[in-house]
Formats: sequence, structure tokens, C-alpha cells
Amino acid sequence: MSLPSVEAPPGAHVQIAFDAQRAAFREAPFPDYAQRKRDLRRMLDLLIARQDDICATIGSDYGHRSAHESLMSDVYLTTTGIRHLLQHLHGWMAPTPAPVGLALQPGRAEIVAQPLGVVGVISPWNYPLNLALLPAACALAAGNRVMIKPSEHTPRTSELLRELMAEIYAEDQVAVCPGDVSVATAFASLPFDHLFYTGSTRVGRLVMQAAAGNLTPVTLELGGKSPVWVHPDYPVQRAAASIVAGKLFNAGQTCVAPDYVIVTEERRDPMVSALKTAIEQRFPKLQDNPDYTSVAHPQHHQRLQHVLQDARDKGATLVEVNPSSERFDEGRKMAPVIVQDATDEMLVLQEEIFGPILPVITVPSSKEVASYVNERPRPLAFYIFDRDTSRVDELLKRTHSGGVTVNDTLLHVAEANLPFGGVGASGMGAYHGKAGFDTFSHHKAVFRQPRFNARFLLDPPYGRTVERLLSWLM
Ligand code: NAD
Repeated sequence: MSLPSVEAPPGAHVQIAFDAQRAAFREAPFPDYAQRKRDLRRMLDLLIARQDDICATIGSDYGHRSAHESLMSDVYLTTTGIRHLLQHLHGWMAPTPAPVGLALQPGRAEIVAQPLGVVGVISPWNYPLNLALLPAACALAAGNRVMIKPSEHTPRTSELLRELMAEIYAEDQVAVCPGDVSVATAFASLPFDHLFYTGSTRVGRLVMQAAAGNLTPVTLELGGKSPVWVHPDYPVQRAAASIVAGKLFNAGQTCVAPDYVIVTEERRDPMVSALKTAIEQRFPKLQDNPDYTSVAHPQHHQRLQHVLQDARDKGATLVEVNPSSERFDEGRKMAPVIVQDATDEMLVLQEEIFGPILPVITVPSSKEVASYVNERPRPLAFYIFDRDTSRVDELLKRTHSGGVTVNDTLLHVAEANLPFGGVGASGMGAYHGKAGFDTFSHHKAVFRQPRFNARFLLDPPYGRTVERLLSWLM
């Protein structure tokens, strides 16, 4: 089976791939362990073999993307995620025996993880390989067929993804469908057995609406404003180093990037100055620095400039950190900006920033932190810098977020044993490791009745026997 050319109407293109996958799934609805292992191994080997190509292609989409960051986030985190699946898959696939209550003795019960069928993965541009292939790997591990709609904002990487997947899988097993929003819309309206979307909250709503028409279950991996709280007792330079590392990785274009920093009033100036120093130490040059990544696409660059202008117009103080006084009139790199005196009327505190802009805001005391976070949409991540475990535990109980790293940033996402997903406005459902296998499996309840059993005791006509039995059971 081969897909029609991209000139064909987008709906036709994705529909043909979908029909082929559905037919293939009906033919082979339960790939065994050996097959799934082979499928995952192929992806793993290919990513390792083609890592240079992958990093160079993402770099060409971005204008400039640090090759080390591509290697860490797009290659390493994907391969490590696949290795984790390979390591545990056999155990996860085994039916789980369930205890049987007195009333149904001597029956046997078990939970069987069954592939769902054909799943759709819609992925964004910020980690264009990882966010397409890690969900796809989880779906393959669970025995499904997968269609991937990669982002139109990283077109070279999307094309490379298509080529790579075509090298190792038939299109009725894994199909990559690059294209613009018209392709995305046609894609989201297919009657998938599960639809997995990563991207903005705005589009997440549209995806969920499209899926509702088919009663397709969705996982929504969305964004949001992930706060950082630095307790007054925590060393400010140490916190600043971790915040800058998390914020400027991929130039802030990370769904779990620290979005803004909360401190008490007396710590604001020390925090701004520590952040500035931490940036200068890590990035003495920006334009000419291979480690400092560009803003990925022109519309996004314009949006970030607009957010800065809006803050400036409404009275914020912008501290641009440009250690070598470079010019930024050309290209899409931009110098990091720390924002002071931001207010709720400014876009910088309303929208997810998703770039190298970092507001530092203040609360009167540490008691106000939980309510500040809780009054806003539930974030994807929360970063707490505090060495007092009981205070940290209290804040964990009082606030909601998809995940948390304590005394550092980003790292909960890198641990394959932890589920990754949002809550409330930052998303629903989760993946990575076992959570990914579970997301793409139907956990089927199976009850096996033995030949000799007591079922007949509960049959009509109901009389004394049933009443006695029920009163004994109750
Ligand atoms: P994007 O513009 O690349 O869009 C994501 C995908 O949605 C693309 O494949 C696009 O074609 C598709 N799309 C666009 N319109 C659509 C429609 N009407 N119906 C169906 N699909 C449609 O990426 P973006 O949205 O700019 O991504 C950035 C956002 O993603 C940020 O908010 C970020 O926080 C979030 N994000 C979340 C995670 C996570 O794991 N939770 C990871 C990365 C990014």
C-alpha cells in the first residue's frame, strides 16, 4: 500500500492510510511479544544510526538548534524511553490475575491488556522527533498501528520522520502524514481507537471536539504556565542556576519550561541579579553560540516580540541579558529577557511564554504561594526550591500540576518510570513507560467460570435459598 501524492485532497490522503491500517489490524489484532520487540528494536536502532541526520534536520528547521540539545531531548530521551519499553514489555503484556470474591468462587479473574487498534498521534514542533516517536513507540509496544501527524512548523523534520518510518515499517503499520492545518483537521476527525495530541490548549479543545464526534478517547498533552517557587531559605544562586538551565534549554520552547519565578519581595532583586549572572556564565555570547537555540519559526518569534512590547507598554521593567552586546535584527535568535513588575493585565502573565522571557513576581510571604498557583489554570509542571521536606510536602498536597521537580527543573520528565501528563488545563491522560503502555491498551476484564460452580443458586425462581445466600453474603 502506498499513500497518494500530497496534491490529493488531505482528507483522502489520511483516510486511505487509516483504512489500510484498520484492515491490517483486523487481520492481525494481537501482535505477540517477539513482534513488538522487533518493531521497537527497529526504531531504536534507526534513531541511533541516524542521530546526526536527525540533529542536523531539526537544526535546519529551527534556523539554529543546539546539536547537544537535539541529542539530549529528541534522540536520547526517545531512545531511553524505547529501551525502557523493551525492558518491561514482557511483564506488562502478561495477563494480571485478579482476586475473586466469595460470591463468584471458584471462578478465575484476570485483566488482559489488549491493543486498541489504530491510534493517531498529532505532534508539535518544539521537540519534533521525540513528541512524535515516543507516543508512537508506546502505541507500538501496546500492539497498535499508528498514524502520525507531525507539525507543519518543522517541515524538514516532518519529511525526515516520514522517510525514517517508511524505511522500517509498512505504511499499514506506521504512517506519517505531514501537512498543514487542513491535513491536521482531516486527521483529527478520523475514527481512531485513540487520539493522542500534544500541542497548545487552544488546539487541544478543537481536537477533543473532533474526537467527540467519533467517541474517540483522547490524551491531551497541553501546555500552560509552569511556576517556580523559591523559598526565602533556599540559596538564591543555586536556584537561579537550575532555573536558567531549565528555562533556556531549547530557548524556553519546552512545555515544562519554568514560565515565571515567584519569590518574596525582599528576594526579588537578589533573584533577578542571580538569574542574570547565571545566564551570562552559561551564555557569554548568544548569536554566535552553538549552545543557544533560535526561536523555531517566524510567527512564534513575532508572538514573543509582541509579548515583550505589551509588557513594556504596560509599565514592566525588561532586563535584557545580552552579555556581548550582540545585535538581534536578523535571524530568529533572541536574547533572554527577565521581566520585573509584571501585572496580571500583561500577556506575559496571561499566556504561556514558551520562549526566553522570564517574569519574576513577588508574594508577600511563603503562605501565599499555594493560593497564587491555585487561582490560575492548573499548570503542567511546578518547581519548588525548598530544603524543608515538610513544607514541600504541604505545598505538594495543596497545589495541582501535571508533575513536580523539587530543587531542580525539568527532570521529572526525563525519568521513564514516572508518568508524564497534565491535569486540568494542562491536559488529560499520561504516557512514558507503563503509563504509555496503559494509555494505548484496553484493559479487558475476563472472568472464567469453571465447569462446577454455584451459579445455579442465584437463578430464578427466586425464593428462600437466594434470600439466605444474599443475607449471608451481605
Ligand atoms: P503546533 O502549532 O505544531 O501544533 C501541534 C499540532 O497540532 C500540529 O501537528 C498541528 O498541525 C496540529 N493542529 C493544528 N491545528 C489543528 C486542528 N485544528 N486540529 C487538529 N490538529 C491541529 O504546536 P503548538 O500548538 O504551537 O505547540 C506548542 C504548545 O504545545 C505549547 O503550548 C506547549 O506547552 C505545548 N506542548 C505540550 C507538551 C506536553 O507534552 N504536554 C509538549 C510540547 C508542547
